[in-house]
Amino acid sequence: MTVTVSRPEGAQQALPLDVEAIRADFPILSRTVRDGKRLVYLDSGATSQKPRQVLDAERWFYENINAAPHRGAHQLAEEATGAYEAARATIGAFIGAPEREIVFTRNSTEAINLVAYALSNAVTAKESELRTYAVGQGDEIVVTEMEHHANLLPWQQLCERTGATLRWLGLTDDGRLDLADLTTVVNERTKLVAVTQQSNILGTINPLGEIIARAHEVGALVLVDGAQSVPHSPIDVAELGADFLVFSGHKMLGPTGVGVLWGRYDVLDKLPPFLTGGSMIEVVRMEGSTFAAPPQRFEAGVPMTAQVIGLAAAVEYLQALGMDKVEAHEHALTGYALDKLAEIPGVTVIGPPDTVARGGAISFTVDGIHPHDVGQVLDDLGIAVRVGHHCAWPVVRRYGVPATTRATFYVHSGYDDIDALADGIRAAQKFFGPV
Ligand code: PLP
Repeated sequence: MTVTVSRPEGAQQALPLDVEAIRADFPILSRTVRDGKRLVYLDSGATSQKPRQVLDAERWFYENINAAPHRGAHQLAEEATGAYEAARATIGAFIGAPEREIVFTRNSTEAINLVAYALSNAVTAKESELRTYAVGQGDEIVVTEMEHHANLLPWQQLCERTGATLRWLGLTDDGRLDLADLTTVVNERTKLVAVTQQSNILGTINPLGEIIARAHEVGALVLVDGAQSVPHSPIDVAELGADFLVFSGHKMLGPTGVGVLWGRYDVLDKLPPFLTGGSMIEVVRMEGSTFAAPPQRFEAGVPMTAQVIGLAAAVEYLQALGMDKVEAHEHALTGYALDKLAEIPGVTVIGPPDTVARGGAISFTVDGIHPHDVGQVLDDLGIAVRVGHHCAWPVVRRYGVPATTRATFYVHSGYDDIDALADGIRAAQKFFGPV
């Protein structure tokens, strides 16, 4: 996952992606904000903008097919099933997974909850095989202090429901996971380790190989939160070696309302469902019912079909650009942005200060100015960034700041966006007085 792009001091290397051509695909980038200013969108980490190809795919589905997949005997239902399952194959291939290991959820949050609830539902499952991964008293779940709330609260809640204990790996002063205690925190009582591949607030890319190897050594499952990695770098689940990977469509040029849980088939097959109802059944009787095999077991109800088809279009768009190039593009922008911010007195980056094992989420503070005020001055200039604790409250607490301002990049981001950000920060400093 780590790419090194060398850039002569002070020079702008040509970016790997053709930013102008890509911007032309995103209708929203041609609108203006705040009295005619160009939209400088530096909030793709919260949600990405959508290219026309994705919008067209959703519209195509509604205009031409619109039916519930896996139900009905008519032609539209048959075509909807075909399109939905073809999208599953496309999205699976994007991460090197067979279709039967791809479960569609609403987003990463729901995918993580699905696993957490399956582990507690396992306690009371009727079939003994579905109790394989049951979590109870004496068991431990391990997370890290770097997790987004989506990969923390579901595990806290699982522990409250089952009596298991939550443990975590801490952070170093330079924004990395502290693995000094890895072998004691991850031990024979550990049932599952949940860890992010790339921090949404610090930008840190974590050394998953070491963590996964230790977890598997003690027989624990590993769930990787790929919400901030799958959109930005090539990921192959076989290489990754985890048991679960989750990601959200809306952060990778796709629609809102669709996310993915990838799970190793032999593990999925031993998990009871999270939600129950139509489409996830084998046989239903008044006395009791049995469940379909994965992935259908985890897709109760009529699925978000248009969104899945839109996500497949997003995947095809990213594949046409090339994920290696997407990663190299953001790597170059990250290096440029870190240099630009380092030139501004009073600006402190919270997270790794260089591009080593680091993605393009750059959080910073500006001396003497609250992040919300920085965000407001930037917004007045047409620059959209995120401010706050970024749903990673323990992280801002760890670094002793109330909040940060965060810029995140994507395929349409260019050096001009970063120059605008740097000028905007200087404008905020001027507005709020000398630092
Ligand atoms: N994990 C990480 C690292 C994130 O950045 C986010 C969202 O920002 C999530 C999980 C949750 O994603 P969603 O809100 O799409 O479920």
